[in-house]
Parts: sequence; structure tokens; C-alpha cells
Amino acid sequence: MIKKERDHFNLLCDIGDLSALLTESSDIESFLQSAVAMVSRYLNADVCSIYLYDEKSDDLVLKATVGLNPSAVGRIRMKPGEGLVGKTFEMLRPIREPAAALNPNFKYFKEANEDRFESFLSVPIQRGVRKIGVMAVQHEKQDYFTEIDVVVLRALASQLAGTVENARLMLDLHNSAPRQPAPSSVSDMFESLRFVKGQSASGGYAFAASAVFKRSHGTLLEKDDAEEDGIYSLEDFYRAVHKTAEQLVEFQSRLAERLIESASLIFDAHFMILKDAQFINKIVKQIMEGISPPRAVKEVAGHYIRIFSSSPNTYIREKVNDMEDLAGRILKNLYNWSSDDEAFCEDRIVTAGELYPSEMLKLASEDVKGVILVSGGVTSHVSILARSLKIPLIIADRPDLLNLPEGTPILLDAEIGNIYVRPSAQVIRQFENRKSSEKKTESFKAVMSPITHTHDGVRICLMANINLLSELPGARELKAEGIGLYRTEFPFLIRPTFPSEEEQFLIYRRLVDEMAGQEITIRTLDVGGDKTLAYSDATGGSNPELGLRSIRFSLRFRDIFEQQLRAILRAAADTENVRIMFPMISSIDEFREARQVLSDCIAALEREKIPHHPGPAVGMMLELPSVMELIHDFAQEADFFSIGTNDFVQYLIGVDRTNEKVAEYYRPYHPSVLRSLAKIVKAVTEAGKDISVCGEMAHETEYLPFLLGIGIRKLSADPQFLPMLQKRISEMTIAEAQAHAKSLLEKSTIKEIREQMYPE
Ligand code: PEP
Ligand code: MG
Repeated sequence: MIKKERDHFNLLCDIGDLSALLTESSDIESFLQSAVAMVSRYLNADVCSIYLYDEKSDDLVLKATVGLNPSAVGRIRMKPGEGLVGKTFEMLRPIREPAAALNPNFKYFKEANEDRFESFLSVPIQRGVRKIGVMAVQHEKQDYFTEIDVVVLRALASQLAGTVENARLMLDLHNSAPRQPAPSSVSDMFESLRFVKGQSASGGYAFAASAVFKRSHGTLLEKDDAEEDGIYSLEDFYRAVHKTAEQLVEFQSRLAERLIESASLIFDAHFMILKDAQFINKIVKQIMEGISPPRAVKEVAGHYIRIFSSSPNTYIREKVNDMEDLAGRILKNLYNWSSDDEAFCEDRIVTAGELYPSEMLKLASEDVKGVILVSGGVTSHVSILARSLKIPLIIADRPDLLNLPEGTPILLDAEIGNIYVRPSAQVIRQFENRKSSEKKTESFKAVMSPITHTHDGVRICLMANINLLSELPGARELKAEGIGLYRTEFPFLIRPTFPSEEEQFLIYRRLVDEMAGQEITIRTLDVGGDKTLAYSDATGGSNPELGLRSIRFSLRFRDIFEQQLRAILRAAADTENVRIMFPMISSIDEFREARQVLSDCIAALEREKIPHHPGPAVGMMLELPSVMELIHDFAQEADFFSIGTNDFVQYLIGVDRTNEKVAEYYRPYHPSVLRSLAKIVKAVTEAGKDISVCGEMAHETEYLPFLLGIGIRKLSADPQFLPMLQKRISEMTIAEAQAHAKSLLEKSTIKEIREQMYPE
């Protein structure tokens, strides 16, 4: 048989749509089978196999193959470290052998019929820090696989890893024993709330019925069985499942339209459960034994939920939400055949105890009108995300709001942080008036000039902070001169798993294309602290703000860091204007180490002949007090700097930026903060390096005269703040700003500074 050449590397981009692979498969096994078939096609390999790690038996098990004897699936098992596959898993490194049988680690499995395959290449399948399994390809010819194939197979494995991990989880599950459910709590009714003053975390207005966020649709699972449940048939159940699958596909495409970063995989775990024949069959069996379909769904889902929730791993416990959500959707569709049951969060104002960024995203897909969080701080990342998604959000330290009866009318004035429960007609009228003043911001857009000057003609550069690609059109309309801070963590936070190099490449590429010709500063991954990855325990610890976060995480998990840097470098191949910035740098050593990883990535891309940026400017965030004593040395080291005042204030004063209870201590005007900022700006500008401010202080206009007064000429803020910043800047002179800053810097108490900044 004549073999055609292997497909070009660029084809990797075309296989991004894994969800299609999953939605078109009839069950998990056939999904894995389609995956190996696809990979063998791309690499033109005779064999491609996936081995998944079974935690309970501590074995790697062959789960899918093309080329090996199909009856070996499920029968070939090896320990980590055993054979080439086991070694790959143990060392987390690819193994490429021109003649596999000559390697002393080679282990022959006679049931596989693999003796005719000479060349061997295997790569680990890992998701962040979790080991999932191994993907291996083989070929009859000796020395068939090249270095490029290693790169391609690694990229394919990382692309598949999240979905494969969910598949493994579902397959593992069927052997697990359930535990007893935790007793459920009953919430009290609370009627006396009328007006609550909170803090605005994302502006806007909303007037709608309330809904309490319950981590997915769990309430339907708790609902008592009704007599009429018996009227539903097996047919109705199948229809409900079908409708649920259709809705999920629609949700995915809605999300993908709105948020490119979330493209397609948000509901990955849901699909995996739907495709799990055992899940569906268990329900069907119960229905056939005479149990009503709603009860059967609840019982089987409950069985899975008990197993998930008893797991010691966060990422498995996280699946409880997915299962509740999915079972809730099936039930809703089941009940919908004859009755209009609960609507979830659509068009509601949602009250929640806490939210993950991915949950905020799901709420956005359900078109929530607003959110009230009863914990968290306005500079927390869920707040930042709400602003990016344009969802009004108020943070109020009032857990009793969670006890409001479902459907209570609530009016949110998130511009000023007011919550009105069952508002009077007069309040509603006032709200309408305030809402019309919203249009004023719109009118700013028209008068916004592309260039900003102070009253006395000093040029100030206004850049945009971006978290999601959907904010780019807004930033352009508001004439941002570039992107001063692209927070790359949001695609990591809103997805259910670590995005692969290819997925990141597509996101960064879009960013670069949409901001063509303008400066773009891409900050590398800044997870940890309040930016918790719902799917990883790695950033936790008893004090996550001081834990394995940000650049420390990246330096610890090199693979993740390298994938990101490679994706950025590749996306910037055709442009001069991309800069790379490292967050939370605490020492010169750390900066050098990160820069070295970047240089290694550039060298690797060079070797692999993959188009990339040959050497972007490399900068750092100034966010930790430890930079203060070394600021002159840093000024020689990095190409540019940006002050992250959100964290700088937090760490300098030792006050949690997300804790509403200590919000009054979080004072950017603390004399130590002001003097430190002045010292930093002086050192960096004297060294002739570029410096900006990208924390929230940059958009709080009361600090503007101080920042300009100490020499800041570049600010980066959420796009909606740019018009106001431009207006204020155009009204002040540098001489006034300098006099103001000088006077503040002379003061040594908070009181004196407050009196000058906020005169009665
Ligand atoms: C900051 O700390 O000021 C900053 C801009 O980074 P982030 O808010 O993303 O932590
Ligand atoms: Mg920060």
C-alpha cells in the first residue's frame, strides 16, 4: 500500500473542534476510538493507541487502538514504569525509538500483534499537573517518526487531554462504590430585607426576579416525586435526553460566538456523561423495572453525585456540578413535555455565596440580568470578569440575601451598589431616570479623541486592560492606543480544563489580528490567589494569596508555561508589537529564570521551523514589596514595567484585596504606597525604561493627579473608563499634578492624606 506523506503541522489548528468529535460519537469508547483514528490519520501512522491510567489498580490500560489487535483493548495492562508506555507515563517525557524492540525497556504483548511494528513514539497525556495516560503511535518502517512528529503528537495529546480526562473519569466511575449522601440543609424564608447597600463591582442596572445560585440545577434533583411523575414514559426520557443534547450544542455555539476563549469545551463533561452508555442504560433499566423516569434520573444521578463528592480530588468533586446541571436539564426537559417548570437563571438576578469564573460564564450564557455576591471583593477576578461580560454585579456582605424566596423582584443599581428588594413604584421610576443617564457614556464615545493630552499639552497614553476577546471592539471604539494588559488567565479560568497550546494560539492570534499595528502587552498566566482553577488543586494551600501562584506556578509547571509562551510567540510571528510580561516577580533570579524559559522556547521553535516572534520585549509587573529595595537593579534587567496596584496595595499593607470585611484597610492612598510608587517611577524612568500603571488605581480618577505628578505617562484601564480618564487628563496641567503629588508625598499619616485628597 502506498502511504501518503504526513499532514502538515498547520493541520493541528483544524482539529480544534474536539466537541464535534465527541458529539458525533455514540459513546465514550467510540469517542476514544475516533480520537486514535484521527491521530493516526494525521501522522500517517500504522498504529495509534490510547492507554489510560486506572488509579485504583495503578495500571495503564489500553483503551482504544487502531492497528493493534482490537481484542487487546481492556486486556493490555502495565504498571507505570513498565515497558515504553509505562516509562513515558512515569517520566512524563516522549519516547521515540527507531527500532522499539532494541530498547531494553520494550515489553512485548503477544495479544496486541505488535511484532511487525518497528518505529515507536509515545507521549504522555497530561492535564496541567495531572497524569492521565499515554498516546503511542507505531509504524512498520524503521526510524519513521521525526522530531516534528514528537512535537505534533505532543500538541495533539494536549489538545485531547481535557476531553480524554473526562472520558477516563466516566469510565473509572463504574467500578467505584457509592458513599452515603450528606444530609441536605433547608433554607429559611427571609422576608424583611428591603434595601441593602453593597459595593459596585461591575456597573449597570437590572430589574428582575431573583434566583438563588445553587451550583447548577440541583434543586430539581431535590424536588419530591410527584404523583404525575408516573405519566412519563421511556420514550419521553429519550426525547428529554435528545433535547438536552441539542440545547447543549446550542449553548456551546452561543458561548463560542460571544466568547471565543470558551469555544466549544465548556460543556465537555456534560456531553461525556450523556455519551456514557452506562449512565443512560442504568436509567433505562430502572424505568423498565417500573420506576418513573424522573425518579430513575434522580436515583442514577444521585449515585454518581455521591461517588464524585466523596472523592479527595477537587477536580472530581467539581464534576458534581456538571452531573447536577446535566440531570437537572434532563429533568427539566422531561417535565416540559406537559408542564412549564422552573426556569433557571435566564433573565434573573442571581444571588450567590461564591462563584467560579466558569460559573459566571455559564450565567452569562443564560442571559442573567445581574448578580449579587455575598462574599468577595471588588478587585477579585470574578468582579473583573463580570465587567468584561457586562453583567451588573454588587458585592454585599449579607448572607441573608440567599434566603430570599425565588422570584422576589429585585432592582439592582450596580452603578452605586444599591439593592432594592421588592422596590416601590417610586424607586422604579428613579431607576428609569438613572438608566437614561447611562446614555451619557455612549455620547462620550463619539467625542473620544485618539490621542490624550493634559491641558498643558503633555502626551498621556491610554491603553486598555482586556480579559476577554469580546472586549476588543469596545476598546477600539473607545480609542485605546493598545492593550496595556491582556490577562491571559481568563481562558484558563473559564474553561473546564487547561487550554492547550493550539487553543491558546488561536486566542492570541485573534488578539494580535484585531489590534493590528498597536502595542499589545500579553501577561503570562497569573493563577492562584483569588484566581482559582476549578479543575486544579495545585494553586490551593491554607493561604493561597501567598502560595503557589502566578509566575511561581508557571515556573513549577514548565510544560504549561512553555505551551503558553510558544502559543504567544507563534501568534506574534508577523508583528513587532507584541510584548510579554511576567506577573508577580519577586526577585531578579525569578525574572531571569522566566526569561530563560522564553529563550528556550524561541530556540525550540527555531529548530522546529515554526514561524514565531524572534525576540519580543520582556517586561514585568511590579506587584510585590520585595521589588522595592531592588528597583534600580530591576530597572536594568527588564525591558518595561507595569505597576499592578491591586496586588501592590494588598501585599504592601497586608490586606486581602478580596475580603469585603477589611475593605476599609485597603487604601491605595496609604503614605507607604504613595512613596513606593514615586520611588519606583523615578528609578524606572531614570533608567530610560517604559512604565505604566495597570491596576485599578489607574482608572480611579482621584489618583490621576498623583500618578501624573510622579511621572506616569501611560495608564491601562478597563475600556469603559477611558473616556472619563481622557476628560480629566485634559482638564489638568502637569505643574498642578506635580505640586499635588509633592504635597501628598510629604505627609506621613493616612489622615493628612485623606484630608488633602477628600476635603469635606
Ligand atoms: C494588579 O495586581 O494590579 C493587576 C493588574 O493584576 P491582577 O488584578 O490581574 O492581579
Ligand atoms: Mg496582580
